[in-house]
Amino acid sequence: MSGRRIGFVEVGPRDGLQNEKTLVSTADKLELIRRSIAAGARRIEVTSFVNPKRVPQMADAEAVCAGLPDAAGVSYIGLVMNAKGAERAIATGRLHELGAVCVSTDGFAIANQAQTSDESLTAASSIIAMAKAAGLKGQVTIGASFGCPFEGEVSEDRVVAMAAALAKADPAEIALADTIGVADPAHVSRLVKRVVQAIAPLPVRVHFHNTRGTGNANVWAAIEAGASVVDAALGGLGGCPFAPGAAGNVASEDVVYMLHRAGVDTGMDLAQLIEANRWLSGVMDRKLPAMVAQAPAFPKSVQE
Ligand code: ZN
Repeated sequence: MSGRRIGFVEVGPRDGLQNEKTLVSTADKLELIRRSIAAGARRIEVTSFVNPKRVPQMADAEAVCAGLPDAAGVSYIGLVMNAKGAERAIATGRLHELGAVCVSTDGFAIANQAQTSDESLTAASSIIAMAKAAGLKGQVTIGASFGCPFEGEVSEDRVVAMAAALAKADPAEIALADTIGVADPAHVSRLVKRVVQAIAPLPVRVHFHNTRGTGNANVWAAIEAGASVVDAALGGLGGCPFAPGAAGNVASEDVVYMLHRAGVDTGMDLAQLIEANRWLSGVMDRKLPAMVAQAPAFPKSVQE
């Protein structure tokens, strides 16, 4: 593990903010994106193209895209659930990747995106095709891969079969998401290994929520099992409006601290993340769930 380099995706501007009741201004979202770039992020999920009535925080998707800074080597990701969202995302002309979402269970797929699980798989495959036709990357996340807020346990076989089916659409990567934060490291290790094998050579990305305190342990288990890209949100903000009880994403600064201490490189700068945490805490007017920024610097030189 030591000496490895993994990919890092900052999802704070989308997943971090989407469940916040107070609307964050477009200017502050763009500042969050600028600070993420300054901290080293080279892939950023900047917004989602969903019905603004369902997710009011994302109503300014087009305005966010219009304001994105030109940053060499940075890939901007727009999350989309259906063809209409993909058309909106492509029309901005500012994105490099479309992130499609399909869901392992009918219960959550219907609540999240008004599709059955199978319909979400078909929709994701066609979004990948639309992205590629527009000259963008298309990647896909399997939501509720480790547990469903409505149906409980999720069959590992079902998730592996979905990943194999999605691989036929030739996405840039496939992500497993623990949308409601119920996974444990043993489950993560088993499922990531199976999916890595099922879709090789496509990379596996992982997306964890720290609802029950297992988030960072799950990140570690996933990397050990062969995942090569990790999602995280600055400050550990996050949640899902359609998944009862979903809490924050794993925090960028906590994940980066853990991985760097363990000798795994992310390309991120911890000191800049901590500075960004303080700024974001001011914007949200509260202490954020992330832990590293609340602790004394260790070793001292890293966070000074
Ligand atoms: Zn999430």
